[in-house]
Amino acid sequence: MDFPEPNLVKAVALALLVYIIVTYGHVLVQPKTTPAVAASKRVPSCGFPGCSKPAPLKCSRCREVSYCSKEHQKTHWKFHKKL
Ligand SMILES: [Zn+2]
Ligand SMILES: [Zn+2]
Repeated sequence: MDFPEPNLVKAVALALLVYIIVTYGHVLVQPKTTPAVAASKRVPSCGFPGCSKPAPLKCSRCREVSYCSKEHQKTHWKFHKKL
């Protein structure tokens, strides 16, 4: 039964740490300037709960909430009518 050298354990731990930093650092540094993201900054995201699609359709009642589709707009009207 050979236990690994303490220095080897340190080297492996360091390599793992560097790997994690490089992997997550790449994700953080990577600029997210895709056309889809740029478009979603101009168009507000859908006001329907759980939906984050770009929403060009505005609520015809309050004109404060936008929706991605007529389906989401109509479904959310039920909640708006209470207000
Ligand atoms: Zn509304
Ligand atoms: Zn939606």
